[in-house]
Amino acid sequence: MLMFSIAVLRGGPVQGAYRLRQLHFHWGSSDDHGSEHIIDGVKHAAELHMVHWNPKHGNFAGALKQRDGVAVVGIFLQIGNTPKPEMKRILEEIDKIKTKGKEAPFHHFDPSILFPKSRDYWTYEGSFTTPPCEECITWILLREPVVVSPDQMAKLRSLSMNAENEPFCPLVDNWRPPQPLKGRVVRASFK
Ligand SMILES: [Zn+2]
Repeated sequence: MLMFSIAVLRGGPVQGAYRLRQLHFHWGSSDDHGSEHIIDGVKHAAELHMVHWNPKHGNFAGALKQRDGVAVVGIFLQIGNTPKPEMKRILEEIDKIKTKGKEAPFHHFDPSILFPKSRDYWTYEGSFTTPPCEECITWILLREPVVVSPDQMAKLRSLSMNAENEPFCPLVDNWRPPQPLKGRVVRASFK
């Protein structure tokens, strides 16, 4: 069973306790695409990634070079009219980081509040989806999506790639298409 306490991931396919390093989203320009993983042909509007690293490798850079270095929990976001209330906290911060280079610190934030009810997941060994795509990741994809409202999704799409004083250039479609499976085995925690 997968367990989450404040910023620590343990159980499921990983050995020991992995620490949360950062979380980020991938999303599309419209509701019918945006997730990086496609399950039985279904694309979701967005996908949340929580990046954890294995402290036995000393630091994050060191963990990137190890096969058991990093575990990423992926959560699908689905558009609906009864959004998960806990998502509000994150999406409210978006107004503060509208343009390139801005940061929003999160103090005493417990990311496990963003998790869906079900802890069913798929898992496989793989790489980062951004270059240099190190092969160091245990992917853990939660089966149950969480619901965000159309307004919240619009907020994500209102982010821009430009700096504050530059012309607006929307940040959308920051997802990478799925890669060939190349003999990788995907396991499910459920039947
Ligand atoms: Zn990602």
